[in-house]
Amino acid sequence: MTLQNEESNSIPVADVVADIDAAESLPELVQETATRNFYEYSLPELEEFLISRGHKKFRAQQVFKWVYEKRVEDYEQMSNVSKAFRAELPTLFHFALPKIVTELKSKDGTRKWLHEIDGMTVETVLIPNKDRLTLCVSSEVGCNMACRFCFTGKQKLKRRLTTGQIIGQFLHAQDSLAKEGLRVTNIVFMGMGEPLDNAEAVFRSIEILHQPNGINMSRKKITVSTSGIVPLIPLVTKSGTRLAVSLNAPNNEIRDFVMPINKKWDVWQLLEACREHYRESGDRITFEYVLLKGITDKLDQARELWNLVRDVPCKINIIPFNEHPGSGFERPTPESVIAFQQELIRLGAHVLLRRTMGRDIFAACGQLTSKYEGRPDRLDVQPGL
Ligand code: SAH
Ligand code: SF4
Repeated sequence: MTLQNEESNSIPVADVVADIDAAESLPELVQETATRNFYEYSLPELEEFLISRGHKKFRAQQVFKWVYEKRVEDYEQMSNVSKAFRAELPTLFHFALPKIVTELKSKDGTRKWLHEIDGMTVETVLIPNKDRLTLCVSSEVGCNMACRFCFTGKQKLKRRLTTGQIIGQFLHAQDSLAKEGLRVTNIVFMGMGEPLDNAEAVFRSIEILHQPNGINMSRKKITVSTSGIVPLIPLVTKSGTRLAVSLNAPNNEIRDFVMPINKKWDVWQLLEACREHYRESGDRITFEYVLLKGITDKLDQARELWNLVRDVPCKINIIPFNEHPGSGFERPTPESVIAFQQELIRLGAHVLLRRTMGRDIFAACGQLTSKYEGRPDRLDVQPGL
């Protein structure tokens, strides 16, 4: 990867998903500017660029540390940077993050930020759980995978986010938590969009998040969730992050119906890619399984699901369907959710029930969208199952 113009943030993965509908025409990623947005680049790219301008490699590390570790954007405060270099920096880089439109807090402690990107909103959700603060980041506005149960999927892909727009979601949350002496402990790419449909920007932001001279987030604290773009799963393995796979059905027939991507890469191909990930990384896969009333929540489907995944080292995360307007699906009763979980446990599965968080501020899985006219900010629901 080389540091070129910001517009060169190309998306090679588009070849792989060529027959998935193309995005509406992509806009310029940033406004015309002579300087580069610092947040778009990984450390090796910054080093390469500064070397090409006649600077020493360590200069990149110095600035990187100020920006990401100390959260300083004012070059004048970068006291260990030489005066001459400090004077040159504003001619090379500017700092641009997506603007925060609102920050909402749920009754259960979940927080949601709305960021503005080209007049649309992108949602980022912080989920507190015991001693963890997990940040769920978005990778795209809209999504072309069109899963039937997902609110984001109702909107075709509008934008693939740039690295700076992904990193910006993290920095806003982290800056806000820092005021309370808290910090993000885990990151999941489970917000709006399919991360492997925006692989270049996603994996570059993972490199930035992990960089020891900056944010220093362990790779194992980062999870990439995919609907199953099978040929790109090895990129997750290579990045050293955890893999989550939205399985959501116990067989090809139902998966074809709820997740159209299954017609391209079916369950068998997907599971083989998961086994390969385990062989290479030694990390168990998380299978996400949305329970849709009367469609995926029957007890014999729990058994079918177990037979499907039992030879893949994994845990199963069951998620009761979160309702959204016009979905055509219903949320299962708490009793049937527990019965499904108990059946899996009886069979020997490692299964977690994802407690629904943030439903009152539309921050729960599958409730994220960039626009829904008339949707209230809040819904009067009680936290819990
Ligand atoms: N595109 C990626 C990551 C974003 S979706 C993926 O599909 O994995 C994150 C998770 O939300 C997925 O596991 C998906 O199955 C789940 N999800 C989507 N819509 C949902 C809904 N309405 N209720 C509950 N979970 C949902
Ligand atoms: Fe896209 Fe994931 Fe929603 Fe499917 S579940 S439409 S892949 S965001």
